[in-house]
Amino acid sequence: MARIVMKFGGTSVADLERIRSVAGRIKAEVEAGNQVVVAISAMAGVTNQLADYADQAAGIYDLHEYDVVVSSGEQVSAGILAIVLQDMGVAARSWLGWQIPIRTDDTHGSARIEDIYADEISRRLGEGQVAVVAGFQGVDAQGRITTLGRGGTDTSAVALAAALGAERCDIYTDVDGVYTTDPRIVAKARKLDRVTYEEMLEMASQGAKVLETRAVEMAMKHHVRVRVLSSFEDGPGTLVVDEDEIVEQAIVSGITYSRDEAKVTLTRVPDRPGAAAGIFGPLAEAAINVDMIVQNVSVGGDETGLTFTVPQADLARAVAVIEGLRENLEYGDLLADPDVVKVSVIGVGMRSHAGVAQKMFATLAEKGINIQVISTSEIKVSVLVAEEYTELAVRSLHSAYGLDAE
Ligand code: ADP
Ligand code: ASP
Ligand code: MG
Repeated sequence: MARIVMKFGGTSVADLERIRSVAGRIKAEVEAGNQVVVAISAMAGVTNQLADYADQAAGIYDLHEYDVVVSSGEQVSAGILAIVLQDMGVAARSWLGWQIPIRTDDTHGSARIEDIYADEISRRLGEGQVAVVAGFQGVDAQGRITTLGRGGTDTSAVALAAALGAERCDIYTDVDGVYTTDPRIVAKARKLDRVTYEEMLEMASQGAKVLETRAVEMAMKHHVRVRVLSSFEDGPGTLVVDEDEIVEQAIVSGITYSRDEAKVTLTRVPDRPGAAAGIFGPLAEAAINVDMIVQNVSVGGDETGLTFTVPQADLARAVAVIEGLRENLEYGDLLADPDVVKVSVIGVGMRSHAGVAQKMFATLAEKGINIQVISTSEIKVSVLVAEEYTELAVRSLHSAYGLDAE
């Protein structure tokens, strides 16, 4: 007998027929003798709809109330799934974040899980009851409902698996595993049987939304065995594993893209100590995450140009912050461009192979795609290009690194 966590995303529970179908999968695991915890997302489209209501209610609003609104989608799906399971003769009950409780910090809208008090669930699992946990939500120290950031049910699932000592955490979604790139834009994308935690973390943080970044981070930290598989068809899926569990390591394992980027350029920034700190300090204070940065070498000697990226959702705020700096910091123009995409090439094999970045640059050059910003880490090379080239860039790189399926 094993204790397992099964996570179902929005498309997997999009309507009653889909909910009955996943209930069948849960029942099969129970009948196989397993103790089952389910982490469930809101039905497809519901969270977007709820977030739209909040947006339409007011321009700027209290994030405590945003969380109250957007967390409600999971309350519905968890209750419905529990009803369907009971109707199939499976003992089950729903759990909201505050009922467990799943304690988080108070960063409303993107809270971090701090602790899960899993004793009662654990006891009931022992009695054969399925726990259907509403994903994406928790409760802060003040007793207020929090949400974990979009896609956060992945994190709920992995955190529950860690807290309950589950043998594995199965993430059921609408694709049958993790692919070399998004199968929805590259038909020749290949499913990976295994992927390392480290590569998965980099892929997630660079835009592959099949797993949420914090979920991978947590799985890595707590050694949770994560599998990504389809709720629509049977199959082995993709296992996220330690590096030493992969026998033949490819140099490049995946290509990702993120359209959620915006580029900011400042011209004629004074080339002196403190200039960068004077710009990035206030952005950090405004909780705006700066990702890629390039500073030009100053030609004349006393002025330089600075280009960086921020999340597209924060672009207007970033521009406002920088415009507010004019009094203390002289600069020429402030240019904002939301029509960019970050394309990344990822693989742990890069550590021991030269030429990976060069191949990326040459491939893009051949297609006439101009590179605007470059950033690298040990296992990744990212470039910023015009958004219109997203598909072309991803497809060409996928072929260039030999990732295309036969
Ligand atoms: P869920 O609602 O189940 O959480 P998501 O929409 O969050 O599902 O994630 C699944 C989607 O991730 C897929 O439909 C696919 O388009 C996208 N995706 C992006 N990159 C990849 C990748 N490398 N492998 C698999 N899927 C990917
Ligand atoms: N329902 C939430 C969202 O759409 C959380 C999730 O699905 O993981 O972001
Ligand atoms: Mg998701």
